[in-house]
Amino acid sequence: MPLSSSHRQDLLALLDSGGEVRFDEPLARHTTLRVGGPVDAWVAPSSITELCRIRRYCDELSIPCRALGSGSNLLVLDGGVRGVLLSSDKLRGLRFSEPSADDSRTEVYVEAGVSTGKLLSEATKRSLGGVEFLGGVPGSIGGGMIMNAGTYLGEFKDVTVEVTSVSSHGELIARTHSECGFVYRGSAIPPSEIVVFARLRLPHRDKEAIDADVAALRKRRKEREPHGVPCAGSFFKNPPGDFAGRLIESCGLKGTRIGGAEVATAHANWLVNVGDAKASDFVSLIDLVRRTVTQQFGITLELEVKVMGEP
Ligand SMILES: Cc1cc2nc3c(=O)[nH]c(=O)nc-3n(C[C@H](O)[C@H](O)[C@H](O)COP(=O)(O)OP(=O)(O)OC[C@H]3O[C@@H](n4cnc5c(N)ncnc54)[C@H](O)[C@@H]3O)c2cc1C
Repeated sequence: MPLSSSHRQDLLALLDSGGEVRFDEPLARHTTLRVGGPVDAWVAPSSITELCRIRRYCDELSIPCRALGSGSNLLVLDGGVRGVLLSSDKLRGLRFSEPSADDSRTEVYVEAGVSTGKLLSEATKRSLGGVEFLGGVPGSIGGGMIMNAGTYLGEFKDVTVEVTSVSSHGELIARTHSECGFVYRGSAIPPSEIVVFARLRLPHRDKEAIDADVAALRKRRKEREPHGVPCAGSFFKNPPGDFAGRLIESCGLKGTRIGGAEVATAHANWLVNVGDAKASDFVSLIDLVRRTVTQQFGITLELEVKVMGEP
């Protein structure tokens, strides 16, 4: 059911002056794949208190409510999303503590809407390592925690002390590292919750060493990954002991195209938007890739990209 006009009025009334709501907002504008139908209400609260209030309102009126980060790991379907998407765009707090005398690490408070690039550059400026793995990984801290984003240099799991989210009742819940249940490209934080901030602990490290690791990672990515096309990074998780890209490439699927969606020629685990792709093109291409890999190798590839919305 789309949002009624009284729900729309209520949402406007619940916002503080810095908050923003856009009704029937096309999500192709908010995803790096550049596909996806409209959401009934895209809401960007300007504070955690405001976010709690809106989350509670949605719960009381049974309005579906989910989180949206930078949209860099999302396939939004063509029919769009019913209800409310809470964007973390305006939650940009980032603070570094003074290191204590007996601890060589610095604690960082980082809100969900801070970009991974901002965290990496601010940490590097202060000679803090531990997040070198973020070189070339887009997204927000909120999305990064849910996905446990990472590369061969590490992942969020390695540096996270605590994650705080908002429950469907609008209450804050703090989870320790072990309670977050981080796994390869995932976590146990329930999809009904909205991550609002995290505390990280970063080790002090020589700035030149940090820069060298990040530069090597970026160079490696540049050589192996597609450029200049809308994409969402790796589409499938690597199955244990193997690589999704290797399996897809072995099936001869590189360059396979359905509508505007293509298995990238540069990297078979990246499905890219080479024209005016629809989400349904990606859905068909995902099906084709999965079926072919299962037939040839008996392995069912699991999606890394999150799918949201209605066909
Ligand atoms: C060019 C490119 C390269 C990439 N390379 C890598 C890589 O090397 N390694 C890697 O791990 N990933 C990579 N990715 C994928 C992506 O960058 C990560 O998954 C990133 O962590 C997603 O963050 P986001 O803010 O964009 O999340 P979104 O795409 O907005 O959301 C992803 C999921 O997290 C949920 N979510 C988002 N924010 C919140 C929140 N505040 N609270 C609760 N749930 C939330 C969403 O509902 C959704 O289910 C790449 C993507 C691109 C486009």
